[in-house]
Amino acid sequence: MAKFVFVTGGVVSALGKGIASASLGNLLKARGLNVILQKFDPYLNVDPGTMSPFQHGEVFVLEDGAECDLDLGHYERFTDTNLNQDNNLTAGRVYETILARERKGEYLGRTVQVIPHVTDEIKRRIQLSAQQNPDVDVVITEIGGTVGDIEGQPFLEAIRQFRLEQPVEDTASVHLTLVPYIDAAGEIKTKPTQHSVRELRSIGIQPDFLVCRAKEPIGDDARRKIALFCNLPADHVFDAKDAESIYEVPLNLHQQGLDAVVCERLGLETQAPDVSEWEKMVQVLLNPPERVRIAIVGKYIELKDAYKSIIESFIHAGIPNHAAVEQVWVDSESLEGEEVGERKMAEMFADCHGILVPGGFGDRGIQGKVNAIRFARENGIPFLGICLGLQCALIEIGRDVVGLEMAGSAEFDASTPHPVIHLMDSQKGIANLGGTMRLGAYPCEVKKGSLAADLYGQIEISERHRHRYEVNNAYRARFEEAGVVFSGLSPDGNLVEIVEYPDHPFFLAVQFHPELKSRPRRAHPLFRGLVAAALQRQSRQAETAAG
Ligand code: GLN
Repeated sequence: MAKFVFVTGGVVSALGKGIASASLGNLLKARGLNVILQKFDPYLNVDPGTMSPFQHGEVFVLEDGAECDLDLGHYERFTDTNLNQDNNLTAGRVYETILARERKGEYLGRTVQVIPHVTDEIKRRIQLSAQQNPDVDVVITEIGGTVGDIEGQPFLEAIRQFRLEQPVEDTASVHLTLVPYIDAAGEIKTKPTQHSVRELRSIGIQPDFLVCRAKEPIGDDARRKIALFCNLPADHVFDAKDAESIYEVPLNLHQQGLDAVVCERLGLETQAPDVSEWEKMVQVLLNPPERVRIAIVGKYIELKDAYKSIIESFIHAGIPNHAAVEQVWVDSESLEGEEVGERKMAEMFADCHGILVPGGFGDRGIQGKVNAIRFARENGIPFLGICLGLQCALIEIGRDVVGLEMAGSAEFDASTPHPVIHLMDSQKGIANLGGTMRLGAYPCEVKKGSLAADLYGQIEISERHRHRYEVNNAYRARFEEAGVVFSGLSPDGNLVEIVEYPDHPFFLAVQFHPELKSRPRRAHPLFRGLVAAALQRQSRQAETAAG
């Protein structure tokens, strides 16, 4: 029988509820428990797939093709466990399910209402993963938003009911709050936490544990005060002080004993957790002997959450390379226009030892990406293109090497004379935009002897996808004649997955999203390879300068 932990947040948003949930999952897993993390978001989109990265940050894609909130990425990275569509629920999907039932006549004669129909569906979904997988010991469900939000109420009401219906020792509530430091007063303030817990208790949920976000540890006096006013024992109040790296958070919480008291509360007898490997990883990560700079040329760069998994993948890739990867953000539109000549490009990428062009949609900033790729190709700068980055690489090579002056993608210009990138056959005739891309994990066969085969160390791989457009096979032969190697193909050979350019230290582009599978203790081979190549370039440059 599984146990259920609910994580809510109060006072303000962006407290790092996802990291706190993932950290608890990490620690319970280190205790030998089988843990599933899930996120329930109260907004009305059916999934985040159709939301702008500016609004919502990156859309994380799971093995089964679910388009999810980026917190699912943290869950997978912190617990090294693959999740699925059932682990991300939105109010939109709840209503979609209920309204479909209503149209079928399943509620015939009854009024369909938030209570009990919406809350019952939420309760069903809380248990779904555990029911499908009897080995699960603990399900941690994070509720998006902040306590007090109108749209979150049905979710909290469902949790209240669920807790009432289950044995006391089968559920626990963790509430995350903010303990601000007021400069003028020179002290921390516990009142916002008290208010937030009062709000939660007024809904009928007494939190069992509080995790207080604060600049510094909150100290025993504040802990006792918070405990007294929030109606819980002082050793159930934890602080999550600002950390240099998110990967430190599980260790900080473990030091304070969070996992031990959660297990005690849930009646789970487990071994003491072995956090030594994680600790070692964090040590390497925080004390890198080397540094290297890699430029990311994108168009959503004002909101770094839009590239969350890429940022994390570079952190992971730095670990085996013993290097910190400094990310230099370049707005692709700033690389466009007449005045952006070779000199300006050289200025923009001065001190960068590698260039990454990430995924994206629409034509804005495309020329800038093409320019950046040309600069990388011509100057031997290690380059990794992801999804749209691959598509731009072929446009660039098509125009400059193959001689297709007007090479383009049908996504940006339906009448382009040379659509080297075109809509996939399977996408033709699709009218609905939600959840209809080529999504999730697909196998890929890697060409022996290629750079990709060398990096992966194997020739059968599987990677996650999210795209509608692909390399147009009608142009494949011409690219190959120009030296391009299509080093990864779908097993039927029809779909280009990996592209390499010859006589270059590291020029690799992939149609899939390697960043979705990188884990802190298992850096993705392509990111690891890019960072290694960038370090080599850096040391070559240093040798040249010295010699
Ligand atoms: N817009 C491109 C496509 O749909 C690339 C998608 C992406 O980069 N994720 O194929």
